[in-house]
Amino acid sequence: MSKEKEKQKSTLQSNLTRRDALKLIGAGATVLIAADQLHSAEASRSSPSTQTDAVIVGAGFAGLSAARTLMRQGKKVVVLEARDRVGGRVKAAKIAGRAIDGGGMWVGPTQTRLLDLIKEYGLHTVRQFETGNNIAEIDGKRLTSSGETLGFDPQTQAEYDRIIRDLTKLSDQIPLDAPWNMSRAEDYDHMTAEDWFVSQTKNIAILGFLRAFVRGVFTADSYQISFLFFLFFLRSGDNYDTLYGFENAAQAWTVKETMHQVAVRVAAELGSAIVLQAPVRSISQDAAGVVVNSDKGIWKCDYAIVAVPLPLSVRIVYQPVLPPERDILAQHMPMGSVIKYWVAYEKPFWRERGLNGMLQSDQPPSAFISGDFTPSEGHPGLLAGFIEAHNAMAWTGRPMEERKKLVVERLVNFLGPEAANPIDYEDQDWPADPWSRGCYGASMTPGIMTTVGKSIRQPHVRIHWAGTETSTKWMGYIDGAIRSGERAAAEVLARLKTEVQPRQANRFR
Ligand SMILES: Cc1cc2nc3c(=O)[nH]c(=O)nc-3n(C[C@H](O)[C@H](O)[C@H](O)COP(=O)(O)OP(=O)(O)OC[C@H]3O[C@@H](n4cnc5c(N)ncnc54)[C@H](O)[C@@H]3O)c2cc1C
Repeated sequence: MSKEKEKQKSTLQSNLTRRDALKLIGAGATVLIAADQLHSAEASRSSPSTQTDAVIVGAGFAGLSAARTLMRQGKKVVVLEARDRVGGRVKAAKIAGRAIDGGGMWVGPTQTRLLDLIKEYGLHTVRQFETGNNIAEIDGKRLTSSGETLGFDPQTQAEYDRIIRDLTKLSDQIPLDAPWNMSRAEDYDHMTAEDWFVSQTKNIAILGFLRAFVRGVFTADSYQISFLFFLFFLRSGDNYDTLYGFENAAQAWTVKETMHQVAVRVAAELGSAIVLQAPVRSISQDAAGVVVNSDKGIWKCDYAIVAVPLPLSVRIVYQPVLPPERDILAQHMPMGSVIKYWVAYEKPFWRERGLNGMLQSDQPPSAFISGDFTPSEGHPGLLAGFIEAHNAMAWTGRPMEERKKLVVERLVNFLGPEAANPIDYEDQDWPADPWSRGCYGASMTPGIMTTVGKSIRQPHVRIHWAGTETSTKWMGYIDGAIRSGERAAAEVLARLKTEVQPRQANRFR
């Protein structure tokens, strides 16, 4: 064995008691390192084991918010993040030399926790551009109308309004903390959103629009998600109109400096508590504490908060193993699929034709073909849109040039030949990203909410769960992620106050 390896082995051994090592090994096949490999694992190369009050897994908005809350209460925390950056599903990108958001970017008036952060860190919101006409392509027809209205004929509009009213009446009845307690919960959970839509109307245009709504908002298809989950999600984000709309709704503003800057500012407050490129591989625990094993080292703590996308949380190996309910939940709550694209032009030429750049469609590959994000100085002209749900599944993993061709052709089709020559194109293929494996968030399939749904926030002994999927308010959104992190931190704080023995009593220390 080389001198360097001998040194690494003795460092690790002096920081891990034999019992700790045996405990990790005791997890057998479920732990990524075995006895003889302990010294050669990435962990031992990078750092010795370290003791802290709480380890947080994931530096998305949920993990960052959990860490911030605990730190502000004087607790010692470490945030272990797999990527080489913070922000998770909120990511900085560039087009035509300008900073843009490749992930989450909008904030609305009732997303108060996110608005508080934007204000606290001195960042600025910019109103979504909507002046002019939009084009909606529904049932093979192009409808042009002003602002956000759809341009339906009066009869179709009346029927659509009636359906949305009924939907809102139902979603208003959801108890956010316990949607499984809603009256007729099982009936609603045993049907898909699609089942309910087709029970309400035969109008092809309305059906097309409702399906496009699900693709655009859930990045899943209406035949994939539980209707009870759908109702819960609407209530969690206020209601259907708020989720769909721009003005005074979920898509009201973007952040001038980019949404990613909000995460960067929170991370700056946390400083060296964040360890990047530290994917967590396994977490073991017993009555004395928790051992978190990452590629950058082993951390011991009283409690852990796992703040990763819910379906990905079961790619970490737990000892003892997770209760079956939590594992089933993760297996039946897949991530949605989305590819977000940006297209840059010399100028926003569509504005000269009275268009606001907002293009929607019930046809593949995009429900939200584009919105206008041109900066206040008027150039470059920027459009952004999404390929969602089954269309994203078909287009993920392919060369970006192919998607560029697809998107530009679609824009030419709507906006004319001027759209054929963008000065730049950029996209983010989220399903291809190993630390998200899809986006915007995860949705429950039928029959899950009323069976194992209750396990969504139940701690696994000393492991607490955060992440936007665990939020009751604004689930699936950045605001929900922040709330989930703060909730998990409050749970851990309460336990640190009441349950933790004096330090010397913990044999890890
Ligand atoms: C294209 C797109 C558009 C969106 N638009 C909006 C929008 O406009 N407004 C809005 O509010 N929301 C939007 N969202 C959703 C929003 O971004 C997410 O809901 C939110 O960012 C989730 O935060 P989170 O902290 O829960 O999870 P994440 O951001 O996913 O953070 C989890 C972190 O855990 C890390 N991780 C995963 N596994 C491990 C591991 N084993 N070890 C260590 N680290 C690990 C990941 O790298 C990640 O950094 C959008 C998302 C996408 C992708």
